[in-house]
Amino acid sequence: MNKFFLFLIPIVMMFASCADQQRNPLLTDYNTPFDAPPFDRIDDEHFLPAIEEGIRQHQAEIDAIVNNPEPPTFENTIVAYDQAGSLLSRVSLVFGNLRSAETNPRLQEIARESTPLLSAHSTSIRMNQDLFERIHAVYEQRNELDLDLEQMRVVEQYYRDFERSGAALPEEKRQKLSELSERMSMVSLQLGENQLAETNAFQLKLETEDDLAGLPASVRAAAADAAEKAGVDALGIVTLHNPSWIPFLQHSERRDLREKVFTAYFMRGDNDNEHDNKDLFAELMQLRQEMSRLLGFNNYAEYFQDIQMAENPKNVYDFLFEIWEPALALAKRERDEMQVMIDREGGNFKLEPWDWWFYAEKLRKEKYDLDEAELRPYFAIENVKKGNFLLANKLFGLTFEARPEVPVYHEEVEAYEVLDRDGSHLGILYIDPHPRPGKRGGAWCGTYRSGAYEDGEKIYPIVTIVMNFSRPSGDKPALLSWDETTTYFHEFGHALHNFFADGRYRRTSRSVPRDFVELPSQILENWAAEPALLNEYALHFETGEPMPEYLQQKMRNAEYFNQGFINAEYIAAAILDMDWHTAEHVGDIDVRAFEETSLRNMGLIQEIKPRYRTTYFGHIFGTGYAAGYYVYRWAGVLDADAFMAFKDSGDLFNQELAERFRKYILAENALRSGMDAYIEFRGEEPSIEPFLIRSGLK
Ligand SMILES: [Zn+2]
Repeated sequence: MNKFFLFLIPIVMMFASCADQQRNPLLTDYNTPFDAPPFDRIDDEHFLPAIEEGIRQHQAEIDAIVNNPEPPTFENTIVAYDQAGSLLSRVSLVFGNLRSAETNPRLQEIARESTPLLSAHSTSIRMNQDLFERIHAVYEQRNELDLDLEQMRVVEQYYRDFERSGAALPEEKRQKLSELSERMSMVSLQLGENQLAETNAFQLKLETEDDLAGLPASVRAAAADAAEKAGVDALGIVTLHNPSWIPFLQHSERRDLREKVFTAYFMRGDNDNEHDNKDLFAELMQLRQEMSRLLGFNNYAEYFQDIQMAENPKNVYDFLFEIWEPALALAKRERDEMQVMIDREGGNFKLEPWDWWFYAEKLRKEKYDLDEAELRPYFAIENVKKGNFLLANKLFGLTFEARPEVPVYHEEVEAYEVLDRDGSHLGILYIDPHPRPGKRGGAWCGTYRSGAYEDGEKIYPIVTIVMNFSRPSGDKPALLSWDETTTYFHEFGHALHNFFADGRYRRTSRSVPRDFVELPSQILENWAAEPALLNEYALHFETGEPMPEYLQQKMRNAEYFNQGFINAEYIAAAILDMDWHTAEHVGDIDVRAFEETSLRNMGLIQEIKPRYRTTYFGHIFGTGYAAGYYVYRWAGVLDADAFMAFKDSGDLFNQELAERFRKYILAENALRSGMDAYIEFRGEEPSIEPFLIRSGLK
């Protein structure tokens, strides 16, 4: 009897697991419009088994390449490797995007369970010596294989990927490296979770009319809405999410409350509590240093920049200091101007970091007579969206069609079909505009499916742009600030890049250096303020009138305002990042002391905190922007210079330039290095001048 049961149980379990697989929508054809993820059928519990199955399939595909009795060729090794892992990539993209845009405790738990599995899996591939030998063999004979330019690059890039992962190292060092990388991914994950927890932990209750002093109606309404949503009995609450704390700091006359909010903001991860990030970050620096040295670099920055447009840390520092010096000088003048204002008002105190936003806003009103609130009615979210669509149409002939039949993961998300000039399909765009508790802060663009070719057939991308913009308040639509408006254009620019990127191989179609990838996004911000576009989309949400000329002028003048601060706080964070990743870390690291020294050495003034302090510097927790926070300004120089090409041509929608931009900068990423692509578009290397002039630094 017992025996019989023991025999039966595995069979029953097998059936159960088959049935589960059939029910798991992540493992079957989606059967949805445009093959978009079936969010309405995906349950949290589907992810882990789907990830496990994805890993199993990918491993089987890798084994098949390795065990192929034929000698290694471009097709049976490079192409086969490029195409492998499609299920895992499909599942991971959905999971990763949801974990950023619509997470919950269960998803976080699954991430903690799956992260070590995924990291062990990718390490085992990167450390697979048989696979590396086959790739190496193709690499060695690449010049005799009659490969075209893109094929040559795909071979070189895969070879370099393996080399950078340590595949060419002796066994013992490879083992060490895989331990380091496993630990690094856990530490990164924990740092990010602590940051989220610290951001959500703070709430300032506004309980009396006095607590609301200085706040304009829109800020009061947003604070009241937030309190209601959080179930807090108060006139309003202030949180550490950007749309909440920034307007509060700009307007609140309560200096004590400003200090409270700002202090909570900049102390995130540094509170010596269970979410403290200091020790974890110190560990991360040790791990990265050890890894870089194993791979033959002096430090992590060298390792990172080796494959960037910038090439090495020296070029990055030189570049940053070229902006830092004029930026800091200007920031000091701005500070002095604010102090004069405080003294004139009889304030009798020294300007502190939590005062900067408040006096900046006052100075802006005084000098530029521009009230942010005066602009918002022209930037209703629907109009801003139309402005983005219109720009894509004027430059590239694209059109956008609402596709309500495409499943989405939250009712606030909209889905559009993107159509090329000739009406052909380019992909699907999701737009997810507002903050929610399960969404991380900031704004970003991601892909639920990357554009690629599979078996010679084009797979169209599914792209998402996710923001944390002001919500509609009362009976008014969501009215965006100018900053939010340009952020919209920015993320939309990343999306266009994803729709246009056209490589035959997965590896090459995605191989854009970090310090190049912000050019397509940032350049669109230039058009947002140009009358030729602004007059079409920035229409008053009640009257439908375009923004009057005097207001446009004021808005453009105001672009020069506070540039000392904006550039100084940014460059300070970028230098801090470089300092962390170029320093020689010996023994225990005192994170606070290191940060203080770094800021003192660069000469940052007390009244400004870097854009990100170490303990909530999310960009550098993961590998994407570590030693790479400089890339936004690097790309800023590129975008200012590239936009100058359109201006100089006398036609902001110059079709010939737009076509070249699409071809060299957005589409053919597979074929050239960043600098070569840029020169193809522009005819020469970028100049820093247009950036300094645009920012009022010169
Ligand atoms: Zn970006």
